[in-house]
Amino acid sequence: MNTFFFLLLVLSLGCLILGIIKPSFVIRWGLEEKRTRKRVLKYFGIGFIVFLILFSATIDNPEVEKYKTSTDTKHTFSNNEEIAVTLDKKIAALGDINLISLDKSEDIKELRGEYENLTSEQKILVTKLSLLTEAENKINGLKTSADVEKSLQVSKEADAEKDSAVAKEAVPQSTVQEAPAESQKTEDIVKEGSTQSQNNELTVYITKTGSKYHRDGCRYLRQSKISISKSEAINQGYTPCSVCNP
Ligand SMILES: [Zn+2]
Repeated sequence: MNTFFFLLLVLSLGCLILGIIKPSFVIRWGLEEKRTRKRVLKYFGIGFIVFLILFSATIDNPEVEKYKTSTDTKHTFSNNEEIAVTLDKKIAALGDINLISLDKSEDIKELRGEYENLTSEQKILVTKLSLLTEAENKINGLKTSADVEKSLQVSKEADAEKDSAVAKEAVPQSTVQEAPAESQKTEDIVKEGSTQSQNNELTVYITKTGSKYHRDGCRYLRQSKISISKSEAINQGYTPCSVCNP
């Protein structure tokens, strides 16, 4: 493409020079009187400028090419060094190790990960590893003290929890106490029911003539003794004996 534009450039320059010398030489169209140097300049001048721009735009500048290849090669050769330098810069960006705070721990962890991901050749080129290690130690120290503080807080919290647990325990106790009372109540109800049913099932004794029902062994049962259930006796209009009170 570049050669093509170069040829056009040379052609337009040649035509321009020729046209200035003899306009009718390059302008082979139109009327004889219109074949002027002015028109030659106009047509071929514009053409020359256009092709010059196109040519320079598509030029394969050997200097640029050379630079490109040299940096490429350099890049390939110094790739390891560059990676190491980048990591060194990142480590240096941590700043004063003594001023490092816990919020940097993630960054430091990341840097350590980056370092561990390097090849052994790259690792050798890293110069600020000791700084990273120092930073890690500092963070670990901060973490330990923070942990101690936390554990203190946790124990305090645990104490508080214990207190609340004691308070909570008091509550279940009352419910536990209540529960048997309730079950006793139901037991009572069951008992009452059974006594009631017992009462109803209770066998009493009536006499042939009397209108009372009696307990077994009542003195009124000497003449006659007919066994009957209490409920049946009540149903039949018998009333309890006032002596044996069944
Ligand atoms: Zn009686």
